Amino acid sequence: MAVVIKSASEIDKMRRAGKVVREVLELVRSLAKPGVTTMDLENAAEQRIRHLGAKPAFKGYHGFPAVLCTSINQEVVHGIPSAKRKLKEGDIVSVDCGAIIDGYFGDAAITVPVGEKVDPVTQKLLRVTQSSLEAGIAAVRPGAHLGDIGAAVQKVVEDAGFSVVVDFVGHGIGTQMHEDPQVPNYGERGQGMKLKTGMVIAIEPMVNVGSPDVKVLADGWTAVTSDGSMSAHFEHTVAVTDEGARILTD
Ligand code: MG
Ligand code: MG
Repeated sequence: MAVVIKSASEIDKMRRAGKVVREVLELVRSLAKPGVTTMDLENAAEQRIRHLGAKPAFKGYHGFPAVLCTSINQEVVHGIPSAKRKLKEGDIVSVDCGAIIDGYFGDAAITVPVGEKVDPVTQKLLRVTQSSLEAGIAAVRPGAHLGDIGAAVQKVVEDAGFSVVVDFVGHGIGTQMHEDPQVPNYGERGQGMKLKTGMVIAIEPMVNVGSPDVKVLADGWTAVTSDGSMSAHFEHTVAVTDEGARILTD
């Protein structure tokens, strides 16, 4: 599939979807307290998405059963909300959400500390993963290469002593949730496709405290670190403009 270039009015529609995603993620952040289940988060998110006149992007996507991905601690991505999964003091929970308005998609993720007792290494993991996303976004401008984004993410992560997940990558986004190109969280400066004004991509570093290796559980969805170490995930949908990156999900 070729990369689809979006017009300014299409990007404005994607911004509307991105605002819905942001509102839902901030709602979930405020609700993610000890004793709350991931199904509680799911129900609140679905209600808010529909209230805002949007459709959830993930539910039914390749058979995924929920509007949110909720991935706790060593879970990397694609965790399924459950009434049996109660958040505990000291957990971290990654929440990934997609929404559709007028056929255009927004996609973003945050990782949230639960309670006040998250251990210092895990707190550092959250800060570093968010910083790596910001570094990747800062590399976005017309004429830059995809490898510039990956290299920027990877440097922040590896300088902190953590590792980048390579089995999952970011992606183009527009009237489909996953469009070309793939946007890896690793790479070499000057390598890979050149960015052009009107491209829209989701940049989404997944970072592990230990090994980069992941495996998928028997539910067919939940990806976990192979070594059981903690993992974090942050994501924004970003448009390439003449002025540089425009974040559509902030
Ligand atoms: Mg996402
Ligand atoms: Mg994504």
